[in-house]
Amino acid sequence: MKSANVQPCIHPDAHVHDRKAFLREVAAVCNERGLRLTPLRERVLHLVASAERPVKAYDLMQQVRDDKGVVAPPTVYRALDFLLEHGFIHKLESINAFIGCHQPRIRHSAPFLICDSCGRAVEMENEQAARVLEEQALILGFQPSAQTLEVHGRCARCARAS
Ligand SMILES: [Zn+2]
Ligand SMILES: [Zn+2]
Repeated sequence: MKSANVQPCIHPDAHVHDRKAFLREVAAVCNERGLRLTPLRERVLHLVASAERPVKAYDLMQQVRDDKGVVAPPTVYRALDFLLEHGFIHKLESINAFIGCHQPRIRHSAPFLICDSCGRAVEMENEQAARVLEEQALILGFQPSAQTLEVHGRCARCARAS
């Protein structure tokens, strides 16, 4: 993620946390930026947003197929690429799954907490860690092109349950 795109987190209240608000926000951003939210892109976005846990491309393909008949996998990948490229969803590299973003309007890099017990993931609405890493890399003359910050462990709910 380019540093020019990384902006400080605004107040959490400005983030969208419910699915409907999220889908509305993405539609509004697409409209403003002249991006085409095709029915398939919208469907994939909807599925990612509706999932309680990060979803894998394979599962998305199954779901899209169920209600649309045969859909070629590359079409689903292209829809995911579009959503990723514009910052509407994030890809969790360590589990190879996708999750909706709480701040689809602003391009950013934020750490994720991933629970290995229940599979839920939370986006930490704090960009300090990403910024520190980027600054340190630049000091060393390293030019970062991508950043993956994923912390694995057990969420509070799972930790309490055991
Ligand atoms: Zn995000
Ligand atoms: Zn958990």
